[in-house]
Amino acid sequence: MSEKRDYYEVLGVTKSADDSELKKAFRSMARKFHPDKNDSPDAESKFKEIQEAYAVLSDSQKRANYDRFGHNSPGGSPFGAGGFQGFNINLDDILGGDFFSNIFGGGSRRSTKRQGNDILVRHSVSLKSVLDGTEEEITLDLPHHCSDCNGTGAKDGKVSDCTECDGQGRVRIRQQVGPFVQDAVRDCPQCQGSGMSSAARCKKCAGDGLDTSEETLRFNVPKGASDGTRLRMRSKGQPGPFGKGTSGDLFIELRIEEHAWFERNGMDLIMSIPIGFSDLALGTSITISHFDGKDLTIKIPAGSNSGDTTIISGRGLPSKRGFGRGDVVVLLKLYMPKKFDKATKKSLKELRDSLDGGDDIIDRIIDDAEDRRS
Ligand SMILES: [Zn+2]
Ligand SMILES: [Zn+2]
Repeated sequence: MSEKRDYYEVLGVTKSADDSELKKAFRSMARKFHPDKNDSPDAESKFKEIQEAYAVLSDSQKRANYDRFGHNSPGGSPFGAGGFQGFNINLDDILGGDFFSNIFGGGSRRSTKRQGNDILVRHSVSLKSVLDGTEEEITLDLPHHCSDCNGTGAKDGKVSDCTECDGQGRVRIRQQVGPFVQDAVRDCPQCQGSGMSSAARCKKCAGDGLDTSEETLRFNVPKGASDGTRLRMRSKGQPGPFGKGTSGDLFIELRIEEHAWFERNGMDLIMSIPIGFSDLALGTSITISHFDGKDLTIKIPAGSNSGDTTIISGRGLPSKRGFGRGDVVVLLKLYMPKKFDKATKKSLKELRDSLDGGDDIIDRIIDDAEDRRS
């Protein structure tokens, strides 16, 4: 069996820590190691370790037992034969602060503030939008409170309490886990946590208090935005349940469309162009259009090689900080036709004799290497 760490050490508190210190320590550790937030491979086991330590230390009976016997309690693991299995905790619950009442069963009433869910949508924009920071328009079906019941989910807006849970929405279930009796708090099965009697549900929304309607939203693409940037619109998400609490947020995730010839590398725009042998040898100038509105003139110096790059500075994408632009980087590629007609072939052969001067290719490679060394 692998060595188990001391629960106090796991949470980074002293043995005399009180409930609020424990709670604070747990919250900050859980945030740090929640697998949704932390990519490291041991985050999940760390997170479970933190949960286990908190589950024991926050329970006065379990804590007393642990203080006395450590991990070798005579009754075995306080979590039964299988040991601690972990809770499935949503990161939002920890960040939102409802976590302790939800998981550890502080008697939460229906009136407890609960936040509506966040909504994520994806929206594609062009590289030109990233350059200009254009205003975008997006039309979505967004949830809002049902107009018939003002979001309460109750017929005529009149709420009558569920008889099963007395309108609390939660029920307390007492269960035996190993040698311990544990209290668990669950959503009431009768009313699914709404606290309302089902007979009085609003017909329009079937009792969830929500309705959707089309809404058009406008927003600006931040200049220099990268693929996957998320823009937050506060309170445009799902409204709080049962007509109470705050609305969630709407997140718009930007997808940057691919361009026909530019590829993006941070602030730089990269492209490759095929150039014929004679243009590489003699040099030339090529003009292509650019989405910044001004043509791009690419000067290819005489004696260029396939694989050389030429840089046109200041014609890339803007920086996120709002000043300066990246570069356009052009990669030159030799364009070699698959077939030549007879006359061209003849002149190529003549050209080869005059260019190569009968040298052996190996000699040229050696000369080249020596040139570079000196
Ligand atoms: Zn309704
Ligand atoms: Zn109920």
